[in-house]
Amino acid sequence: MAREALSLYDTTLRDGAQTQGVDFSLEDKLLIAEQLDGLGIDYVEAGYPGANPTDTKFFGEDRKLGTRLTAFGMTKRPGRSISNDPGFQALLAAKADAICLVGKTWDFHVDVALGITLDENLAGIKESVEAVVASGREALLDCEHFFDGYKANPKYALACAKAAYDAGARWVVLCDTNGGTLPEEIEAIVGEVVTHIPGDHLGIHVHNDTDNGVANSLAAVRAGARQIQGTLNGLGERCGNANLTSIIPTLMLKSDYAERYETKVTPEKLATLTHASRVLDEVLNRAPNRHAPYVGESAFAHKGGIHVSAVQKDPRTYEHVPPESVGNVRKLLVSDQGGRSNILAQLDHIGISVPKDDPRVGRLLDVVKEHEAVGYAYEAAEASFELLARRMLGNVPQFFDVESFRVMVERRHNAVGDLVTISEATVKARVNGDTVMSVGEGNGPVNALDNALRKDLGPYQSYIDDLELVDYKVRILTGGTDAVTRVLIESRDGEGRRWFTVGVSPNIVDASFEALLDSINYKLIRDGAPAP
Ligand SMILES: [Zn+2]
Repeated sequence: MAREALSLYDTTLRDGAQTQGVDFSLEDKLLIAEQLDGLGIDYVEAGYPGANPTDTKFFGEDRKLGTRLTAFGMTKRPGRSISNDPGFQALLAAKADAICLVGKTWDFHVDVALGITLDENLAGIKESVEAVVASGREALLDCEHFFDGYKANPKYALACAKAAYDAGARWVVLCDTNGGTLPEEIEAIVGEVVTHIPGDHLGIHVHNDTDNGVANSLAAVRAGARQIQGTLNGLGERCGNANLTSIIPTLMLKSDYAERYETKVTPEKLATLTHASRVLDEVLNRAPNRHAPYVGESAFAHKGGIHVSAVQKDPRTYEHVPPESVGNVRKLLVSDQGGRSNILAQLDHIGISVPKDDPRVGRLLDVVKEHEAVGYAYEAAEASFELLARRMLGNVPQFFDVESFRVMVERRHNAVGDLVTISEATVKARVNGDTVMSVGEGNGPVNALDNALRKDLGPYQSYIDDLELVDYKVRILTGGTDAVTRVLIESRDGEGRRWFTVGVSPNIVDASFEALLDSINYKLIRDGAPAP
């Protein structure tokens, strides 16, 4: 039997960005959009052009992604024509494949929040959708508060949805904006809506305020909706949005759904899910939820004699799906088998092949465990892991040695009386038998250190000229006076390739320096710089 297509729509970068404490930079957004694209998500809603400089910049360039890049915005302002609405014009100017508009469908909101008549609101939806369609872009309408609206005035809520569909919206998305609707209500209401609008034009967008975000999304699919909107790791304001990190594997690994529906997420792509989830946490600078279904560190962890021995006989005894299907690993807390296969999988991923029983794999595993115990995070710093692995398994040349460095930070009044903070770093290195001393200045100690280190690397200079630091994240790992600092650095080369390195130390400058060194060494190895 042919399976029906389900469309996946991610709004991590827009609705997810509403979360308290979340503020994505342009680089963050690009990195996460790439992860989502790699997963096979149909639509990536990346922001609200015109609302803030980051989003305007994001949509100011052609991003060349396989996914349908979607810009978000509001239906036209009441009492204005579209040509006279600067917000709407900014939306139309965005370099996006699709535009998702949010419109009001609850009569109470039209009355109280907009203060216009119900007919004016309907006309606004129609005109706005038509304008998007006329611009050659795919149009979507997020029907805000649809379920509350439907309960209050079903005829009007439906009229709004219908107006968008009739005006040419590819998807009419029913939103549970307040997140309080229960699965049985969702299923019943969507079941009524599909008798007016075809299900393959209906989407579901729910919030998780009763912890039913996933259940509500699946209920809508059962009732006929064919697009699911959600976010990675369930990121979103209040209690979060529907969690795509749980919904996607459920759709693919549970036979009731897998036999009936298909998405663009292939089994190979599904195996990158855990990685994508952890990358988001790293970008957000927060610890991953260990107990997250499918992707959490504990999702396939087994402790205690009976469980472990049963799992070793047949994992199905205590696992509902195989961990590798979502790119996670089994953890048996009494042996290191899980860790060993994890390391072998990671080596394979970066293109290093070693025999399964090579004793160096065990030693590498021990070192990784020791490092992770003191704060390193290789999941997010693959370049540092690769360097470590190559050092232990092969021969990474010692391109240069840093004998010492010194950093000075000075805060003073400058000639015109302004308070300024200046950093200066001195690095003493041995390159090709010569001792070089370089001095660099910067807007902070790490920047100064980076400038000094890269000033003169002799024969290796040409390899690092196009190396650029694009992001720098600091996390304090333990509280109190013995706190340890982890620094994660993202680097990029002239061809746009990126890599991440990590450093850990009680001293923030020292941790940064370690990550900087890894970044340079990684680039030299990858670009085939000759050994001294
Ligand atoms: Zn929302």
